[in-house]
Amino acid sequence: MKSKTKKIIHLRKSRYYFSLNPYENMAFTRCPKCDKKTKIRKICLVADFRRSKLLFMNLQCKYCQDCDLIIIKKSKLEHIFRNMFCDNENDFNFNEFFIFGTIDRKDFLKSNIENIPSHKAIELVYPFKDIWKFEIRPAGWYKD
Ligand SMILES: [Zn+2]
Repeated sequence: MKSKTKKIIHLRKSRYYFSLNPYENMAFTRCPKCDKKTKIRKICLVADFRRSKLLFMNLQCKYCQDCDLIIIKKSKLEHIFRNMFCDNENDFNFNEFFIFGTIDRKDFLKSNIENIPSHKAIELVYPFKDIWKFEIRPAGWYKD
């Protein structure tokens, strides 16, 4: 018996804006959008690896409450992904990872004690509302 119906995945409602901080020496203690002080928050991020595996990570992020924006250092994630997947340094490619949402802490904890199949896991994910990129100009004089 063959069925052509595609399984529809119902993602949860989107929440948070997300930005990857590519700057090693920039901590984003202030929000790059509104300039208010960011807070440190533990957030359960979800990454997709090679479109085949979902990774849940409970990590300290910078968070701006006003903008609903999460910022995390790229180097921090690189380090984690490397440790998870790569014995060989040359195999590592950050572009194979796509950070696209968050899950509730209770689901994160559950995923640590039981193996949640990926079609179930995806339904726990709240995708980001959007992903923002910020570029920082080094301090100094600029000709306009
Ligand atoms: Zn802000």
